[in-house]
Amino acid sequence: MSRPYYIAGNWKMHKTRSEAAELTETLVKELKDGKHKYLVAPSFTLLETVAPIIRGTNILLGAQNCAPEEQGAHTGEVSVLQLKDLGVQTIILGHSERRHNYKEDDALINKKVKLALQHGFEVILCVGELLEEREAGKAEAVCETQTVKGLEGVDVVNLNRVVIAYEPVWAIGTGKTATPEDADAIHAYVRKVIAKLYGDPAAEKMIIQYGGSVKPDNAAQLMAKENIDGALVGGAALKADTFAPIAKFA
Ligand code: PEP
Repeated sequence: MSRPYYIAGNWKMHKTRSEAAELTETLVKELKDGKHKYLVAPSFTLLETVAPIIRGTNILLGAQNCAPEEQGAHTGEVSVLQLKDLGVQTIILGHSERRHNYKEDDALINKKVKLALQHGFEVILCVGELLEEREAGKAEAVCETQTVKGLEGVDVVNLNRVVIAYEPVWAIGTGKTATPEDADAIHAYVRKVIAKLYGDPAAEKMIIQYGGSVKPDNAAQLMAKENIDGALVGGAALKADTFAPIAKFA
């Protein structure tokens, strides 16, 4: 089955409002004839700047996280209601920087996934192993656990609003990319996990992005693999010169 390609840029904690506006305006022009699905995920403080520039274009607006609660006394958190109000369509959850630097566990991530889905968002659920886990032969098991626990209680009817991003932690921001073969093997494994949970048709439809030092010169080889359906891009998403060629890979 052919799945649409989905290329997303995670800007992390970069850019001021003027820098974000400039990048967004360039991307709108560069991607206007792009054939794939696109998303940019700026910091919370930039969402209001980026939203009007991409409204009505082929670029979706993403957030990099959300609170596990709808509203209330949660100092420093940002709620799904506030994100919806700004026009956010997609929320990235379980990014390795959230898991490892901010100690988010699978239960917390699952709570956020369910809340985001309940409020109509698309969710990009990130999974991926640490280097020591890969070296210990545990890459599949780690990705399976993160997928199963991240999706616990998610109904099959909402699965069309879930995207999985396989991001081996050792490849994020390091310049080391998983080989297309290694990445594809984990993608195929995650697809099997989805099939076990939700059945083959749902697994066949599931978009699984690869993330980890995706660059203009390795995007096409990665995307050529059967189970790789797009990319979640960090560093290379910060410049139109590098994001646009990835987004328009041939
Ligand atoms: C990411 O953080 O999601 C990511 C893949 O970063 P980079 O492309 O910089 O490795």
